Amino acid sequence: MTDAHDIAGLGALVTGGASGIGAAVARLLTARGARVAVLDRDTTGAPDGTLALTADVTDDDAVRRAVDRAAAAFGGLHTVVSNAGIGAVGTVADNDDGEWRHVLDVNLLGMVRVARHALPHLRTAAADRPGAVSITHTCSIAATAGLPQRALYSASKGAVLALTLAMAADHVREGIRVNCVNPGTADTPWIGRLLDEADDPAAERAALAARQPTGRLVSPDEVAAAIAYLASPAAAAVTGTALAVDGGMQGLRVRPP
Ligand code: NAD
Repeated sequence: MTDAHDIAGLGALVTGGASGIGAAVARLLTARGARVAVLDRDTTGAPDGTLALTADVTDDDAVRRAVDRAAAAFGGLHTVVSNAGIGAVGTVADNDDGEWRHVLDVNLLGMVRVARHALPHLRTAAADRPGAVSITHTCSIAATAGLPQRALYSASKGAVLALTLAMAADHVREGIRVNCVNPGTADTPWIGRLLDEADDPAAERAALAARQPTGRLVSPDEVAAAIAYLASPAAAAVTGTALAVDGGMQGLRVRPP
């Protein structure tokens, strides 16, 4: 019997794969036998066994070179996990145009650039491994939750959600699936940095955990498991989907007692 979750031998590229959710994805895909390249502006933390490619997703040429290198190294590219992203705090009045441009350049255009350069490779791969060729974006519950003090970040992720759906429609007949995951608050170095800035980090961590119906933060490995599923042939019929990995935050409208 063949295992529909089998991703052994797939060529994969994970952006932002040197930390947090991306590193968890790179580790899991590697453990399951995929060949994994990590594209990151700082590849110091790229997991063992991965091909580290230092590039900034705001640099179109650097992205193209990194994508082409991964495809050449692996003899093809089947899986793209576009995960690199940065945060921004404040209301619409708090961030100036420069900050808006920069966050959108990383969080939205970064994913556009990666897709643009990966698509020719993915089209070739689709003939080789039907059902196993995909792009997965790391979006966020911020895309639809109406989070306070996150106007710019939420707008960037709302755009990623719309981009995911439009790309899914454009490429479905080419055999390329496009989905996103929407993590709740995940326990990554990013959240660690945010907590370090809080007046009372322990109280802030408890408040973030309490916001999720499960009463705890999501682990990066839990997000990685969802992404590995979306990359696998088990998800061959899944495209244009936003998979929430958020401890029930999005789905449970009535908070459990
Ligand atoms: P993280 O800061 O731990 O890791 C992000 C990685 O992206 C880092 O390795 C960083 O070097 C890289 N990166 C950032 N900007 C880059 C650029 N311009 N070019 C190349 N690489 C770049 O963050 P994380 O928490 O693992 O977040 C990963 C993704 O998950 C982001 O897209 C984020 O928006 C999303 N997300 C995170 C959470 C959370 O609670 N942690 C929740 C929802 C969504």
